[in-house]
Amino acid sequence: MSFILQGIGVSGGIAIGHAHLAAPAALEVIHYLVPKNQIKREIARLEMAFAVVRKEFESLQKSVADGHARAEFSAFLDLHLMILDDPMLSEAASSMITQTNCNAEWALTQQAQVLLAQFEEIEDAYLRERKADVMQVVERVLKAMMGHPGYLPIASKHTGDSILVAHDLSPADVMQYKQHQFVAFLTDLGSQTSHTAIVARSLNIPSIVALHHAHQLILEDDCLIVDGTQGIIIVNPDKYVLDEYRLRQGQLELEKKKLQRLRSVTAVTLDGTPVDLYANIELPEDIEQVKHSGATGIGLFRSEFLFMNRDDLPDEEEQFEAYRIVAVKMHKQPVVIRTFDLGADKNIRGSTQVAANPALGLRAIRLSLAEPKMFHAQLRAILRASKFGDVRILVPMLSNVAEIDQTLHLIEYAKQTLRDDKLHFDEHIKVGGMIEIPAAALSLDIFMRKLDFLSIGTNDLIQYTLAVDRIDDTVAHLYDPLHPAILWLVSHIIQSANRAQVPVSICGEMAGDMQFTRLLLGFGLQQFSMYPAQLLTVKNQVLKSHLPDILPLVQKIIKTDQPEKLAALLARLND
Ligand code: PEP
Ligand code: MG
Repeated sequence: MSFILQGIGVSGGIAIGHAHLAAPAALEVIHYLVPKNQIKREIARLEMAFAVVRKEFESLQKSVADGHARAEFSAFLDLHLMILDDPMLSEAASSMITQTNCNAEWALTQQAQVLLAQFEEIEDAYLRERKADVMQVVERVLKAMMGHPGYLPIASKHTGDSILVAHDLSPADVMQYKQHQFVAFLTDLGSQTSHTAIVARSLNIPSIVALHHAHQLILEDDCLIVDGTQGIIIVNPDKYVLDEYRLRQGQLELEKKKLQRLRSVTAVTLDGTPVDLYANIELPEDIEQVKHSGATGIGLFRSEFLFMNRDDLPDEEEQFEAYRIVAVKMHKQPVVIRTFDLGADKNIRGSTQVAANPALGLRAIRLSLAEPKMFHAQLRAILRASKFGDVRILVPMLSNVAEIDQTLHLIEYAKQTLRDDKLHFDEHIKVGGMIEIPAAALSLDIFMRKLDFLSIGTNDLIQYTLAVDRIDDTVAHLYDPLHPAILWLVSHIIQSANRAQVPVSICGEMAGDMQFTRLLLGFGLQQFSMYPAQLLTVKNQVLKSHLPDILPLVQKIIKTDQPEKLAALLARLND
């Protein structure tokens, strides 16, 4: 049966392929092939996880026997031990690894599905309810396995035309999928500027989030058309629709190829205003794409991704090497390294988010200042890399003068330790601040006095100004870059910085959205940083823009508070 689902397109383009379903929400795990010579190790990893959980249960049972826990807890533990010892789970998962070369997490969750299906058939309502216990036991084993990560996935059997359909993916999950050959990503949850969407976008494949029931409605191997621009999936399309989309896909490819001609063209408006178009990256490997995009610098290196998907923290040496490689490969073009913006939805493995409102909690610079040793290692690494190119430091989520002063003080201290160690660095390294909290936007003077440059993080600025959680799809309709308050704040920051002659850029998703290019040029912006795949489209728009023509319309837009009128004016501006 053919049907259509609508979500929020977060990365444009058309993909045609076959669905590959990730396991259901609570048991969502990554699937990859393990090389033959690692199979034994993979089975040992699974067995070790079972042993760890068994030990946990046994010690809990002992505490019941010692009278430290309530007696009914004992029956519950017996049941969990029974599930744990069920050969359907452990033995069948081991055989599956041997037979299909899959990773242990995948084998375990697949067997859990078989077991759950059997519970579903049971007539006794009480026993049927025990499905939740199976899930809990499996989750516990999965957690134990996370402490013993397996072979890093290098290839999936789903190559060529597989489309990943998941209920939800964390930014860390998507990072892992960077090494796979999926042609599109679909998730039930998510929103336009969630970090998951940002990473998906950087993969340069069509992605749609907020599809709500896609994971339930789509079956493994269903044929899918994914239109990332419109946010639409067509499931099991008929031949005519397939032909139509293949044609459109071909046209898009052609347009992309044409845009490639602009790669080495200087970005300048028709009236001669030069514009810097920089790239956002997550890892040094992204430089390939940056080169392809013709970016003239890195405007945002989200360094926190170096800290994710691993059990340890990258030390100074490892970070130095990552930053040095980027600096060298960019050949003296600017490389803006943002100090780690961990917390909220980007966490290091094993950290347990306990805050009720993590986006308002210990995140970004707040976490850095609370973890001075970790911050010091990063600052030294960035400073040492500054010897190899035009490296700059960018500090995320600053909200007050005390944070600026403390950060500058710690940078100075890191410099001093390097001098003591006789290690070289750029003594005049530029330090900038992200303006992503309304309080910072409204007290710009102090930021401009103390910092060398500003970078507007519109993703968070919108989230915090409109009080809309950027990762919650239930309020995604309220996340509005064209809200009059946002337009006022963004233009205020740009114009204030321009007046004070402090360089200012935008590195949030607004910078890469072509419908805002002229609006931002009209606000006076001359530095944009975005995901590389979008850069040539924005450059094309810059090349076709004439500032004196734009300004009157931009003035009108900023004074308009009627959404329909504003949309019409924006359409005229982009005509
Ligand atoms: C932003 O908030 O706009 C930004 C660029 O930072 P991030 O998306 O990583 O929070
Ligand atoms: Mg941000």
